[in-house]
Amino acid sequence: LNRRLAGFGTTIFAEMSALAVRTGAINLGQGFPDTDGPEEVREAAVRALRDGRGNQYPPGPGIPELRTAVAEHQQRFYGLRYDPDTEVLVTAGATEAIAASLLALVEPGDEVIALEPYYDSYAASIAMAGGTRVPVTLRPRDGAYHLDLDELRDAVTDRTRLLLLNTPHNPTGTVLRRDELAAVAELCVERDLLAVTDEVYEHLVFDGAHHPLASFPGMRERTVTISSSGKTFSFTGWKVGWVTGTPALVTAVRAAKQYLTFVSAGPFQYAVAEALALPDSYYTDLREGLRRRRDLLAGGLQEAGFAVHRPQGTYFITTDIRPLGATDGVAFCLALPERVGVVAVPTQVFYDHAAEGAPYVRFAFCKRESLLDEAVARLKRLA
Ligand code: PMP
Ligand code: GLN
Repeated sequence: LNRRLAGFGTTIFAEMSALAVRTGAINLGQGFPDTDGPEEVREAAVRALRDGRGNQYPPGPGIPELRTAVAEHQQRFYGLRYDPDTEVLVTAGATEAIAASLLALVEPGDEVIALEPYYDSYAASIAMAGGTRVPVTLRPRDGAYHLDLDELRDAVTDRTRLLLLNTPHNPTGTVLRRDELAAVAELCVERDLLAVTDEVYEHLVFDGAHHPLASFPGMRERTVTISSSGKTFSFTGWKVGWVTGTPALVTAVRAAKQYLTFVSAGPFQYAVAEALALPDSYYTDLREGLRRRRDLLAGGLQEAGFAVHRPQGTYFITTDIRPLGATDGVAFCLALPERVGVVAVPTQVFYDHAAEGAPYVRFAFCKRESLLDEAVARLKRLA
């Protein structure tokens, strides 16, 4: 492994899912639903396979049906207009979109600001692009996480190339408010920064609302917006994601994408194009179902003795383990499967400032209610 990737051997998600399989524990670590997405969307994929649509290389930027559906989605939910031909790119999940954006836009030595704790692929992608990551830490206060805008402003230097933003935020579940995003947007304009925003949890907001950064004044022309079908349609294995932005930005990201995967799986693109056009009730039911499960797991974790940081969005609840007499989340998570048969993820691995993240542990609630009930019953044995 070269120096750029030193320390990025195996992802925490692969490691913890392997631990779940080895011990037979309930896996509340890696964020994937245990119920697949809509039957009709699965059928659409089968139809595409059978009809021979997408079984050979699809067009490099993605099939026109999906690019159009993505543009319509941005218009329908946020009033953002994108030209499907020049301003939309289909990627192999959001993961590839993030990597391709950074590879395309960052010069070696450029600084990239990201909100810490951050999704694990950010650090690796910044490193692969030769950039220097500059973390700005979200800190827990009154049961939720907060962005310190002064700290963000102070983090910008003459070498800052871009801001890598994630809202709704994994792992904390924070949904940035409109006024916070407006301040972020002002900063980007004032300091002439590009923004890459990861909005894969855009439809999983339980308190407040999701606002795309690109919808703020001056931002459309400097923002690469990323999302994916994994979380919105509960098909994390399909790996269909997308990028929207100006023709110049999308062309740049496409240049990198061409040499990473060239194209993404064809038949799934047809199915996701149909999924994006599902009626509003689909999106509402998804959110309400997850809200119930958030409340169920949050309540259970509290009863089991954890201090709960209540998430406003995403699949995840971050807890503080100190009320249980523990301080080291890594040791806690490594022992948890043997102790009570549950797998969780130590939040510390998402920090540069490891000490800041030491006592926190992330649990995923994108699971059947019966499984969450069983996990809670097991976790209560910790007390
Ligand atoms: N960004 C965030 C914040 C995530 O949590 C994930 C994992 N779902 C991804 C990106 C990756 O998305 P995909 O599976 O579409 O590559
Ligand atoms: N996004 C998922 C999570 O945070 C995991 C994706 C992955 O395994 N790379 O749990």
